Amino acid sequence: MYPEFSDEYWMIEALKRADVAEQHGEIPVGAIVVKDNQIIAEGYNLSITQHDPSAHAEMMAIRQAGKHIENYRMLDCTLYVTLEPCSMCAGLLVHSRIKRLVFGAHDEKTGSAGSIMDLTRHEKLNHQIDVTSGVLAEVCSEKLSAFFKKRRAEIKAAKKAAKGES
Ligand SMILES: [Zn+2]
Repeated sequence: MYPEFSDEYWMIEALKRADVAEQHGEIPVGAIVVKDNQIIAEGYNLSITQHDPSAHAEMMAIRQAGKHIENYRMLDCTLYVTLEPCSMCAGLLVHSRIKRLVFGAHDEKTGSAGSIMDLTRHEKLNHQIDVTSGVLAEVCSEKLSAFFKKRRAEIKAAKKAAKGES
């Protein structure tokens, strides 16, 4: 429904990875790395499963991209991610020298590509990234809100069940 290779087209692909995160009981955030109109890497949140606070979607995708291109610089790549990167991931993107970042929903709590700070276009850092934000933002944020709503309901139901048993 979106033109092939458009930002929306690729964001749909990132959203599919967010669904995989959710299937693992993780916060649904997904990312892909695109080079020459091909997906060369993907990632989704795995922090809970892997007991690893660094296992964010962007981190997983960038690590995989590096292995794929056999280079730690991602000069001609674009990272698509459903949620604005945190400070750790935004810092990682600067280190990777990635050309473009495209994200969906803004993150007012930890977003470091413009919301609470901007590491992606910091004039004192040695690399600035071309950032496009808000691509399919409503779909991306709705997925997150639905997840948290469901999780709150599950916690509430579990508490109720525990009370009933005692
Ligand atoms: Zn992150």
